[in-house]
Amino acid sequence: AAAPRPRALFGLNEEQRAAATAGERTVAVIAGPGTGKTKTLVARIQHLVETGVKPGSITAVTFTNKAAGEMRSRLEAALGRKAARAMTIGTFHAICLRHLSRKGPVTLIDEFSARSLAAEAAGEAGVELSAAKLLADISRMKGGLAPEHPEAAKAYPLYQQRLAAHRVLDYDDLLLRALEDYETAVPGSFAHLLVDEFQDLSPVQYRLVLTWTARGALFAIGDPDQSIYGFRGSSADGFRRLGEDKPGLRTIRLVKNYRSSPGILAAALPALGRAGDHLQAQRPGGPKPVYVNCPGELAEGVYVAKAIAALVGGMDMLSAGTEAGLGFSDIAVLYRTHRQGEMLEYCLKTEGIPYVVSGREDFLAEETVRRVLAFFRYLLDRGDELSRALAQPLLGSDFEARAAEYGPHAGKDRPDRLIAALAAQQGLQGPALDKLVQAAALFRSLGEFLTNVLLGQEIDLGRSGQKSYASGAVRLMTLHGSKGLEFPAVFLTGVRAGLIPYDAPGRAADPQEERRLLYVGLTRAKDRLTLTCPGEPSPFLGDIPKDALTFEKALAGRPEGRQLTLF
Ligand code: ATP
Ligand code: MG
Repeated sequence: AAAPRPRALFGLNEEQRAAATAGERTVAVIAGPGTGKTKTLVARIQHLVETGVKPGSITAVTFTNKAAGEMRSRLEAALGRKAARAMTIGTFHAICLRHLSRKGPVTLIDEFSARSLAAEAAGEAGVELSAAKLLADISRMKGGLAPEHPEAAKAYPLYQQRLAAHRVLDYDDLLLRALEDYETAVPGSFAHLLVDEFQDLSPVQYRLVLTWTARGALFAIGDPDQSIYGFRGSSADGFRRLGEDKPGLRTIRLVKNYRSSPGILAAALPALGRAGDHLQAQRPGGPKPVYVNCPGELAEGVYVAKAIAALVGGMDMLSAGTEAGLGFSDIAVLYRTHRQGEMLEYCLKTEGIPYVVSGREDFLAEETVRRVLAFFRYLLDRGDELSRALAQPLLGSDFEARAAEYGPHAGKDRPDRLIAALAAQQGLQGPALDKLVQAAALFRSLGEFLTNVLLGQEIDLGRSGQKSYASGAVRLMTLHGSKGLEFPAVFLTGVRAGLIPYDAPGRAADPQEERRLLYVGLTRAKDRLTLTCPGEPSPFLGDIPKDALTFEKALAGRPEGRQLTLF
């Protein structure tokens, strides 16, 4: 009889097992979507612990806060709460914030305050750029890239002066400050570093990785074909650089795809626009992806809403047979830009379909919400004048009294209770505030909640609070936001010219990157994939063989011809 396999490696294929157990100091796993990279990374952590490595010496970096949360709960289930808690699991921003906070209080500026400082800086420099464009350019400069608008360079130092005057850091400074500290004071401080989505590291993040692992072991996994953050300075050839910076690097490739049906892969792989069959479908057959031509965005939205209703209602024969009980939360609707999400939301609402929009949390942008958050930020850091100024109008002459009243509770009470109490006292109400309270209820402390809101806006675009209402709801998100996720059924909407590739006003899209973005979207689907196109089809669709798709037309908002897709 075969020897019992250690738990960590159970269910892994041979290549995955090699990756999970590789003993080289630097290991890269380069593999396509759905090949089990993230699964292997978790298995490797578990394996390390099972073979005697102290959990406290393990650090895992994820791309979003949400991914960090999921990884932590999987490790908790596998290794127990104590071990999982001892590990460091988080985004670059979260890890850097924690590091700097050990040396003294760190105040991060929120997006809106940053915008107002940028507007002031632009005004003083006589630069005619919107605050958002200036901030984007400042971010590029901080990442070592040239600004898109050269005049931004004039306003840059003035913006920095303002940050310094308020003693706050923006998100880029957070990483830069931490990098500086790690490089000078504590290089090589991580014994075991594991990095997911390595292909999307910015240059600063890449340098952090090198510094962190100056003495320790690095396990980097990713997929250059899914590199979609070039506009932020990430470079698709990070793995090649890693080979140069880490002599002796061992590279392992995974080719078996466990996520998607062969029909979905047959459409997704050609969309990359180059030859090569680098993924082997492991799943049994399923329906071909459906391509739906729609007369417009409303018809598209109506089609998607009705198709979802049919899928979940069990009216679809195929789902009744093989995937009985497809629920709303098994379905994702993806789009290129947040703006498209509005029409889709409207249509889902009309059809009575529960949904949750991932990504930009609109309620956080609401003025009252921002002021409430600023008030609590001020309570935790009385030196934070920026937050004080933002909160002041909300409370007027009551400000000092409220600050004194809530101050003693801020560190102890549950964040949702604190916020709800303030809202009741000041007579503040509205759906945005309700959502804020709901989101806060997921956190144990006010500090944890506020940090998550701040970090979330930047990297995960604010996914806090999702869990509570996400069960039983269709997920709406951008293609960027869908990275790393998988769903039994995916609707990839707006696959039209002008959106994919995206003709952003004033900025030329990188066609290769846009192609990879489409590929990321297509490969999120496990069983069902529907592409909807309101207008002239995306030029990338030309690379998908006609016989890899089932064609449908949406007319007058009805999912016509749906029967055709069944067999
Ligand atoms: P992406 O590039 O999209 O992030 P990935 O390579 O990280 O994908 P995972 O999310 O880790 O892939 O895995 C994809 C799916 O395949 C998951 O549902 C996972 O549980 C499953 N899977 C991975 N490896 C195996 C395996 N050896 N046997 C069965 N299922 C597997
Ligand atoms: Mg993954």
